[in-house]
Amino acid sequence: MAKILVTGGAGYIGSHTTRFLLNRGHEVLVVDDLSKGYAHNVPEGRLHKLNLLDGEALDAVLAGARFDAVVHFAAFIAVGESVREPEIYFQNNVAGTLSLLAAMRRHGVRKFVFSSTAAVYGNPESTPIPETAPHRPVNPYGESKLMVERILRWLDECSGFRYVALRYFNACGAAAEYGIGEEHEPETHLIPLILRAIRTGSPVTVFGNDYPTPDGTCIRDYIHVLDLASAHAAALDHLLAGGASDSFNAGTGIGYSVLEVIKAAEAATGRQVPFQIGRRREGDPAELVADSSKLMKTLGWEPKITSLQEMVASAWQFEKLRHASA
Ligand code: UDP
Repeated sequence: MAKILVTGGAGYIGSHTTRFLLNRGHEVLVVDDLSKGYAHNVPEGRLHKLNLLDGEALDAVLAGARFDAVVHFAAFIAVGESVREPEIYFQNNVAGTLSLLAAMRRHGVRKFVFSSTAAVYGNPESTPIPETAPHRPVNPYGESKLMVERILRWLDECSGFRYVALRYFNACGAAAEYGIGEEHEPETHLIPLILRAIRTGSPVTVFGNDYPTPDGTCIRDYIHVLDLASAHAAALDHLLAGGASDSFNAGTGIGYSVLEVIKAAEAATGRQVPFQIGRRREGDPAELVADSSKLMKTLGWEPKITSLQEMVASAWQFEKLRHASA
């Protein structure tokens, strides 16, 4: 079993992956500055609070620890905010990662799993999207992730560093059995907003019903967060076995419209979703669905939860846990 450093392990996908790796028998330490994540998401005694731009603090964690690999989640992820304040996205996501990579080099850690995103593709010409589709991000968030992928390719080329970048589609669901789930502040994601609408009775807005899709609403590829966690575990296995660097899409390959997500939420909860139709949200492509066949073939990964209703049901369990009166 390996010794793994997880950055951003107090956040949504990082905390689920941390639990998954611990269950696999790995030794895991988390670093997180808690600017977005929550200490309560990290198992007792495993959290070091630090910002990745602080090289000395990183040295203190890495010195003598002999980590086998780093799994890097720590990043800002709000697309709209990245458009309003691009500088902080490049500072945090690119400069923060460079600081981490430099510290890894100082301490001889050469294997890296990176949280990338479908946003590197921008508005794709067609779906499902293969990894070879043009990389044309349409916001600073996507650009910051693509810049890191480019840096990683050069590190591989120049210094024998090995990485896997996973380009996530729409992560959702929760592992309520561990008391963890999606908790963004402010929340902008569809499924938590639908569940909040059920709980509070205040309607969620569907962003546009005039897209060129069968029901007019946007189609996305929703993937359960524990299936994403297992993709990270597979990426680690690959790297620890001496596998080559690469980038992979991580989705189920199945697209659901916003109205289909609302229907699945009604079926999963047995409650009605109050909703209203609103205007399109700027920058939303009509359809984003992953071609994840490369991840399946190369890393032997397979999503276990492909039913949208099951994904939403797990998120609802967590929503009820957080708001005991729901
Ligand atoms: N969406 C919506 N209402 C909301 C939030 C999201 O209709 O209040 C739609 C959004 O336009 C997109 C889909 O739900 O088509 C998923 O959006 P989310 O923000 O969850 O993830 P994204 O696809 O932006 O990564």
